[in-house]
Parts: sequence; structure tokens; C-alpha cells
Amino acid sequence: MNSISIIGAGIGGLSLANILKQQTLDFSIYESAPEIKPVGAGIIMAINAMQIFDKLGLKEKIERAGNKIHGITITDESLKSISKTNILELEKKYNSCNVAIHRASLQKILAENIGLEKIQTGHKLLHIEKKDHFHLAFENGNTVESKIVFGADGIQSKVRNQLLQTGTIRNAGQKCWRGWVNFDLPEQYHQEAMEMWGKGKRFGFVKMSDKSLYWYALVNEKHFSQDLNLLSVFKDFNGLVLEILQATPPEHIILNDITDLSPIPKWYSEHLCLIGDAAHATTPNMGQGACQAIEDAYIIGELLKTHKEYDKIFQEFQAIRRKKVDYIVRTSRKIGEISQWERGNSIRNFLMRFIPESVNQKLGEKIIRLEK
Ligand SMILES: Cc1cc2nc3c(=O)[nH]c(=O)nc-3n(C[C@H](O)[C@H](O)[C@H](O)COP(=O)(O)OP(=O)(O)OC[C@H]3O[C@@H](n4cnc5c(N)ncnc54)[C@H](O)[C@@H]3O)c2cc1C
Repeated sequence: MNSISIIGAGIGGLSLANILKQQTLDFSIYESAPEIKPVGAGIIMAINAMQIFDKLGLKEKIERAGNKIHGITITDESLKSISKTNILELEKKYNSCNVAIHRASLQKILAENIGLEKIQTGHKLLHIEKKDHFHLAFENGNTVESKIVFGADGIQSKVRNQLLQTGTIRNAGQKCWRGWVNFDLPEQYHQEAMEMWGKGKRFGFVKMSDKSLYWYALVNEKHFSQDLNLLSVFKDFNGLVLEILQATPPEHIILNDITDLSPIPKWYSEHLCLIGDAAHATTPNMGQGACQAIEDAYIIGELLKTHKEYDKIFQEFQAIRRKKVDYIVRTSRKIGEISQWERGNSIRNFLMRFIPESVNQKLGEKIIRLEK
């Protein structure tokens, strides 16, 4: 029988596995995909996540595989700044910086550090039942028994649906394309994440490595059709956007709905705990979904240092994490709504210029400060 089973080898499950490994705890991790093949293009690991990777001895590796980002700038369609957040001071204070990285590179580092042989790929959980301990049944016919289970199986979590029977997935009414491309970005954008706000649409881009950049584009769902051409959607944006889109191979582009999970009352039950998107998926407007999954793993690890009883750990874990996570889910939804306005967007962009940078920095620090 397994002592600890983790369902899902996404960023949350892999981070937790790294934390458990550091504490020399025995665990098994099960992933439905036939190989560790991340969905999506790039991702930003903010200072909160990077502090945790530092404690795991992975910070420098991740920095080398990605690109350090010292600021986030929101602009209008013409790439004129309307809001800036410079994080150099926070970087000094927390001895870490934001890193933009290809998801494949990040997951490779996390998976290799625990040892690829620890990850049972091709194990899609079909059924989980609690008797005196957990009985797990996988699509490939394998069955496993386990004392403790972590559900790190994402927003559609089978673990959550079958054992906690809660959670409503909310559609934010926006379509999001993500892409990555080898592209020679002008130097002024090398250390900044850029997001351009237009009328009912947004375009963001960030350098991820020496050669490549990651971009995303959002439109309100009511304007979406299967044959929508992004070049014509963004023809009124700065020419750089069209250059990036034209250079991107179609096979490097994915399309998703923007969704989140309505806050659920409890992330745990006896000997079982959800982490990451399975517990509290957020819209991506603050770039914090995966960072929060990593914080979950970190807090579980900190509690394991002083507690022996898992049910106490899970209870305390939720008590520590709840406030920050709820704040992020709520605020991210709000930012998503405002940034996609179709009316009043010019006034919005005008007024944004008056928000002092100190306000953005304060908001930033609230998010990147670890709770323990
Ligand atoms: C457009 C967009 C941009 C984003 N940008 C950022 C960003 O810049 N920074 C950031 O921090 N976050 C970002 N996020 C959020 C981030 O992608 C998620 O929050 C993060 O991936 C959640 O990690 P997770 O491990 O909890 O879940 P997931 O990544 O969903 O991983 C779950 C894993 O479980 C596996 N699985 C699912 N069901 C089963 C099953 N039945 N049996 C076995 N395995 C199963 C899946 O295959 C998967 O590998 C973004 C999200 C989107 C949509």
C-alpha cells in the first residue's frame, strides 16, 4: 500500500512531490498523460514561486532555463504605457525575481528533480473510494491502495468531484489563444512583461529565453467564431503584434476558454487534500494560478515539519491559505472583466495612468509574500 499518492503531475503535483522528496517522505505520483507533456506555451513564475524554488535548490536552474522579468507594463493598443509595476525593490527584498519560462522547460526541471521513474504516466484515475483507506482505480486497469491522497488533478479534478462532490466551474466569457515563437524582440522589451489593453481584447507578450517569446491574446466570447483571424482582430494594435502573430507557427498556438472555480467550502476530507487548480483554480489575469499551487505545496511541507497528523495539517493548511487564494480568485476575475471592457475602455486607459506605481507595488507585495 502507498503511504502517499499524488494524482496529477502538473506544476502543483510536481512541486508537492519535490517538497515531499526534500523531506525524504515516500510518495507515488500518477499522471493521466502518456508522457509529461505540458499544455500551453509559456508561464511566468512570480517571486513567491521563485522563493520556494530557491528553498528547493532549483532557483538558478529555472532562471537559466527562462528569462528574468523586472517589471510588468500595461499599455494601450499602441504600446503606450498606462500602468507600470517595477519590481526591482521587491526582488532585492525577497532575493528572487519573476521568471518567464516555457512550461515544458519548467516541468522538465521539476520532474527530473524527483526522478522520472517516480511518475507513473498513463495512469488516468477513473475511480476513488474511501474505505479504511483509499482505493484508486485507473483507466489502464491498475488499482492501488493508499493511506493519504493529494488531488492535484486540475480544475476538472476527479478527486474533488468524487469525494468532495463540490465545485462549479465558471466561464469568464473570454477566449484565450496562447503561442510561442522564435522572435527577435526589440531590446526594450527584454526584461518586461507587456500587456496591451484595447476594446474588448488584450494582447500580452514576454521574452522567455534568448530566442523565444510567449504571447497570449484574449477576445470576448461573443466576438468569437471558429474561423476568427487574429491578424484582423488585432489590426488596430501596434505593428509588433502583427509581426509576432505572423511569425508564429500554427502548431505553436492553443486556444482555451477562460474559467475558474467558484470557491469551495473545504479543500480536504479525512486523509485527503486538494491542491492547486483542483482546490482553487483562478482566471489567469494575475498570472498566479500555478504560483498558488506551488505555495500550497510549500505550506504543506512547512506543516509537515512540525505536525505528524495529516488531518490536522490539512485543516491548518486551508486556514493559512484560504484568505490569500480567495483574494486572488476574486481580484483576478475583476481585472479580467475590466480589462475586456467594450465601453469606456478609453477612459479606463486614461485613468489607469493616474494610479501611482506604489499602489501596484503594494498589491504585488501582498501576493508575493509567503504566509509562512
Ligand atoms: C492562459 C493562461 C495563462 C496562465 N498563466 C499563468 C502564469 O503566467 N503564471 C501562473 O502562475 N499561472 C498561470 N496560469 C495558471 C496555471 O496554468 C494553472 O494554475 C496551473 O497549471 C495549475 O496547476 P495544477 O498542477 O494545479 O493543475 P494542472 O496544470 O491542470 O495539472 C493537473 C494535472 O493532472 C493531470 N490529471 C487530470 N486528471 C487526471 C486524472 N483523472 N488522473 C490522473 N491525472 C490527471 C493532468 O493531466 C495534469 O497533468 C495560466 C493559465 C492560463 C489558462
